Amino acid sequence: MNTIRYDFRSDTVTRPATGMRSAMATAEVGDDVFGDDPTVNLLEQRMAAMLGKDAAIFVSSGTQSNLLALMSHCGRGDEFIAGQNAHCYKYEAGGAAVLGSIQPQPIAHQPDGTMDLGDIESAIKAGDNHFATTRVIALENTFGGQVLPVSYMVQVAEIARRHGLGLHLDGARAFNAVVALGTDIKSFTAPFDSVSICLSKGLGAPVGSVLIGRQDLIDTARRNRKMLGGGLRQSGILAAAGLYALDNNVTRLAEDHRRARRLAEGLAAFPSLNVTMPDTNIVFVDVEDRLGDRLTEFLVSRGVGITGRYGQQRWVTHLDVDDAMVDGALAEVAAFFRDGAEAAFR
Ligand SMILES: *Cc1c(COP(=O)(O)O)cnc(C)c1O
Repeated sequence: MNTIRYDFRSDTVTRPATGMRSAMATAEVGDDVFGDDPTVNLLEQRMAAMLGKDAAIFVSSGTQSNLLALMSHCGRGDEFIAGQNAHCYKYEAGGAAVLGSIQPQPIAHQPDGTMDLGDIESAIKAGDNHFATTRVIALENTFGGQVLPVSYMVQVAEIARRHGLGLHLDGARAFNAVVALGTDIKSFTAPFDSVSICLSKGLGAPVGSVLIGRQDLIDTARRNRKMLGGGLRQSGILAAAGLYALDNNVTRLAEDHRRARRLAEGLAAFPSLNVTMPDTNIVFVDVEDRLGDRLTEFLVSRGVGITGRYGQQRWVTHLDVDDAMVDGALAEVAAFFRDGAEAAFR
């Protein structure tokens, strides 16, 4: 295994910096299952206030947060609507179906990442014993690093209201969207009954997500978190990292976005690469067919960590990527195309 010098695999790879570690080390703690960890309580109250919602719950991961949200909105035999490539449908091991007995109704994405409003509306089922009962629509923003328009979220909320459905936001990277749009988290999440936000992605905490929303939904989530084995004890040590992240690592997301753009522009200079210009911190690159995965393999062999297969690459910028690393990685791409490395990989 090669040492990774420039790690663009994900914004989950960040390591807690000194300030965050000392906040964790000095955190006041209690037993959160008894509700008396003051640092967890502070994080939950602060997130609820930031979003202007009733309550919040600190959980171990974004996957658990989405699952708890779906289990709060839906009972056994109910249904949720989500995009075909939504994380809560495609990338969570079928948890809603397996653990919640909730049926997914996936909807195709349009090229801009949104779901067609007519497709959503015609998938809603109710009032017939043949059907599972649709209870909630789940949106995701950012979606693959793309910022979906606020007006779209408002239109989907209108459909949800009209049909008496809940509306959930998988906002794992909602702060990236907020920073990119220059808006605030409260108005961005206003249309939603529940919102899941990851602390362990661009915000740089080692562990944790927060589910924020209506009181009854969070109460149900708290019971189900216990049932799923997600009740933690002196988790203030982890919540302290989240509080530190909210204080220090939100506005700086703009730097990740700037570096992603610089990386994208650098990559776009190579004619064999078709680069999608990023809204936030994720860059997708389609590599010319004849190269297959050779460029990716070359970069990995040179210590440039990226993900992707079948000719598509994903590069993610984050807290632990600086300008020099962007330059270093671009130099390796240049080396591949310049020095006949391309030929060596044929
Ligand atoms: C990462 C991610 C999750 C899940 O978070 P984990 O902490 O990895 O379980 C959910 N939704 C989206 C959009 C994500 O990017």
